[in-house]
Amino acid sequence: MPTIEVAREAGACYGVNRALDLVRDAAAQAKGPIHTLGPLIHNPTVVASLADAGVTVASEPDEYRGGTLVLRTHGVTPDEEARARDAADSVLDATCPFVVRAHRAAETLTREGYQVLVFGEAGHPEVMGTLGHAPGATVVERPEDADELKLRRKVGIVVQTTQSRARLAELVRRLLGRTDEVRVMDTICEATSARQAAAAELAARVDAMVVIGGRMSANTRRLAQICADACARTHHIETAAELDPAWFAGVGAIGVTAGASTPQAQIDGVVDAIRRLTGATCVDAPAPGEKDGAQP
Ligand code: SF4
Repeated sequence: MPTIEVAREAGACYGVNRALDLVRDAAAQAKGPIHTLGPLIHNPTVVASLADAGVTVASEPDEYRGGTLVLRTHGVTPDEEARARDAADSVLDATCPFVVRAHRAAETLTREGYQVLVFGEAGHPEVMGTLGHAPGATVVERPEDADELKLRRKVGIVVQTTQSRARLAELVRRLLGRTDEVRVMDTICEATSARQAAAAELAARVDAMVVIGGRMSANTRRLAQICADACARTHHIETAAELDPAWFAGVGAIGVTAGASTPQAQIDGVVDAIRRLTGATCVDAPAPGEKDGAQP
C-alpha cells in the first residue's frame, strides 16, 4: 500500500499567519470597508476566502478613498505607503518583519555608498518594494547575470527572502576579484530555507512529489523546482481538484510539501484527497538525523 509523507517543514510561515490574523481580526471588527493593496499573499484560495469575509483587493494605493488599506506581506515602496496613508482612513501594515529587514538593509547599503544589487525576481512585488528603498539599485535575477555588470568599488547585495543560499553563494563567487568590496546582507528568510531543505530531503526519498501553493508564489515555484531536481514525478498544484490519479500509478511513496503561503487546512485537504485516490496511509516524517541512522 502506498504511503504519504508530509515534509517536516511545510506550509504557512510566521509572516503569512501574522498577516492573516491581522486581516481577519480587522474584518471581524467590521469598522468599514477593508482592501488589501494587491493580493495579501500569493494564494488564490485564501484570497477568495478573504473576499467572502468582505476583504477586497485594490490594485493602487489610492484606488479607494477611506476605509482600511492593508499593506501586503511582500511589502511596498515608501511612495506606495505614503499614497496609501493619504487615501485611506487607516493603514494596517501586514508587511512581514523579515521583508522589513530587507528594506532596512537596502537603505543601509544605499546610505553607505554601495552599488546595490537586489538578488531576486524582477517584477516580483517583494523585489519592487525593496527597490523602492534603494533608489538606483539593480535587480540581478541569476548569478550569471552579474558577469555583464560594470561594478563600482563597493558592491552590496540584498537578497529576496525566498532565494536559496546556494544561488547567493554563486553570485558572490562571480563578483569576488572584480571589485574591492562585496558586502552581503543575508536577508533570506529561515522559513524559506528550512522548507527548501526539507523538500529536497523528502523528494530524494519518494516516488512522486506534490507541491501545494499558488502559481504566482515565488517560494512555492522554487520548492517545485527543488523537488523536480530530485524527483521527476513532481507536480505543482493550487488545489486538490487538480490531482490526477495517473500521477500515482505504481507509486510506493508519495511526498507532499507546500509553500509558505499555504495554510495547514489546505495541506490536510490535499492529503485527504490523495488518500481517497490511492488508498495510501500517512506516515510521519522522520526526526532530524533519524533517516541517516544517527543516534538520538
Ligand atoms: S516566507 Fe519568510 S519572509 Fe516570506 S512571509 Fe514567510 S516568514 Fe515572511
